Amino acid sequence: MPGEFELIARYFTRPVRRAALGVGDDCALLSPEPGQQLAVSSDMLVEGRHFLSTVAPDRLGHKALAVNLSDLAACGAEPLAFTLALALPRADEDFLAPFASGLLALADEAGIELVGGDTTAGPLNICITVFGQVPPGLALLRSGARAGDDLWVSGTLGDARLALEVFRGQVALAGDAFDSVRRAMEMPQARWALGQALRGVASSAIDLSDGLLGDVQHVLKRSGVGATVDVDALPRSAVLAGLPMALQHECLLAGGDDYELLFSAPPGAHEAVQAAGAADGVRVTRCGRIDSLAGLRVVDAQGRAVPTPWRGFDHFAA
Ligand code: ADP
Ligand code: MG
Repeated sequence: MPGEFELIARYFTRPVRRAALGVGDDCALLSPEPGQQLAVSSDMLVEGRHFLSTVAPDRLGHKALAVNLSDLAACGAEPLAFTLALALPRADEDFLAPFASGLLALADEAGIELVGGDTTAGPLNICITVFGQVPPGLALLRSGARAGDDLWVSGTLGDARLALEVFRGQVALAGDAFDSVRRAMEMPQARWALGQALRGVASSAIDLSDGLLGDVQHVLKRSGVGATVDVDALPRSAVLAGLPMALQHECLLAGGDDYELLFSAPPGAHEAVQAAGAADGVRVTRCGRIDSLAGLRVVDAQGRAVPTPWRGFDHFAA
């Protein structure tokens, strides 16, 4: 089996293009453009908590970076560089080769480069820190939503949760339907181009990682506002749309792992929001509005209250 430094050299060392110094020294050196702010975020993936042992290593590499790119997207930051801290039970190249290729393929697509990290033996654990840049004053924050703004969401919601329900044996799906929701769970598409296009357009943004109900509350708290969400307006895949309504609601409202952007924008920004979606090639859908009345109201298309018996995801909740 190869040693630690051989693994780093073989799988995680590549020439840098934008950074001043990459893997191999005590620190990497980044060169953000003069005057830009650095946006920094970390996300850790733990086996059994954030992914199942059944996931293919290339998809795991993709997802580990995608969930981090999603945080840059939610801030409107342009991806620059990332570090990878990896604990591995064994120096297993049948795992590492596809893991690195899935990870680095997404890195190339997003224009973000791997500049350093740490590699250690231990239970499988993947921690990535991303660095992005954003012009001062233009970062999208959770705190900017204002009463009267529209609430928007990108892509479709709920498929990742639906896949989890299939793995748990709660729902049965035909082969190709399962493949497509499994793909949504294992290979989320981070919306970094949308996030950057929403600078100066959206008044607030958050990426949906823990389920819409919980995540929207973070925006409402930070912004000191309330909201009304129309569950019938929430975009969903044809697979999810074919299932019982109670299950649809659970997946749309309480499902995690969507990695779509939920954002607010003034009503006058309707066309600019559509243009931002087009810039990323992703559909954006109006799904509610920000209210001055505190709290979250979930309604159907007729304005009737919809029950929401689920709680937002919390790792330490009893
Ligand atoms: P140090 O002892 O100074 O922490 P290490 O010996 O851990 O350095 O790592 C050597 C070099 O390899 C450093 O530049 C570090 O950033 C890089 N590195 C280690 N693990 C990884 C990894 N998984 N991915 C990318 N770079 C890594
Ligand atoms: Mg080290």
